[in-house]
Amino acid sequence: MHLTGKVAIITGGARGIGEAITRELAAAGARVVINYARSAAAAEALAAELGGVAVEADVSTPAGAKALVDAARALGSIDVLVNNAGITKDGLMLRMSDEDWRGVMDLNLDGVFRMCRDVSAVMLSQRRGSIINITSLSGVRGNAGQANYAASKAAVAALSRSLAKELAKRNIRVNCVAPGFIDTDMVRAMDPRIVEGVTQAVPMRRLGKASEVAKVVRFLASDDASYVTGQEWLVDGGLGV
Ligand code: NDP
Repeated sequence: MHLTGKVAIITGGARGIGEAITRELAAAGARVVINYARSAAAAEALAAELGGVAVEADVSTPAGAKALVDAARALGSIDVLVNNAGITKDGLMLRMSDEDWRGVMDLNLDGVFRMCRDVSAVMLSQRRGSIINITSLSGVRGNAGQANYAASKAAVAALSRSLAKELAKRNIRVNCVAPGFIDTDMVRAMDPRIVEGVTQAVPMRRLGKASEVAKVVRFLASDDASYVTGQEWLVDGGLGV
């Protein structure tokens, strides 16, 4: 039990990759703080099953991020933060509205920045902590139709490397996990022909499972990764090689 007694926040922790991360961290002994925006029933059921707490908060807003951090603080410490919540608003750049650009940035970048800032203030006083930001292969490689999303994820990777340098001497590690194409609602919402094409391009010839992302997150959250910081780990079946 690598995370026994640790408090872990997972944003968007009730479904998709977030749910798998919540389950994996809870199985490793963590007390999970399961954030949700819309998936109230799923979050409450998961909290009851795993013995965690469900916290409704829109982490794209300053007030939402603050409410979530305050709820977690009430448990005594914050040892792990996983910034998993993320959205896409895809479209070619020439037709991309300011709203679709801003909406993605509000959650995927601004929300991650505020959560990192507010949680690291708590971690600094504890002199320990692990932050894991879920980025994307799209942010590493770029992707046509995802200028907003790819830019938000690449910015989070740069933010994370900078925070890793700022916080390392206080025993706080900051890493990213960049999934390729994982079988969740986000990918199921895509054109099936695109998903089929991508699957054929993956050296492993299949989509990833949310649990396969979660296991890497659990490693980075734990002391097993005590000398790992500032890294972006691709979990993509070899697609980004
Ligand atoms: P889903 O679309 O399945 O789930 C999105 C999650 O984000 C939900 O838990 C949702 O919570 C949460 N969320 C959305 N808006 C908000 C908000 N304003 N405040 C709090 N939570 C919010 O996505 P995935 O599980 O596929 O993706 C999870 C992460 O992994 C994202 O950051 C995504 O960019 C990244 N990723 C996914 C890939 C994939 O192939 N699936 C590939 C690369 C990266 P709720 O239901 O409560 O609204």
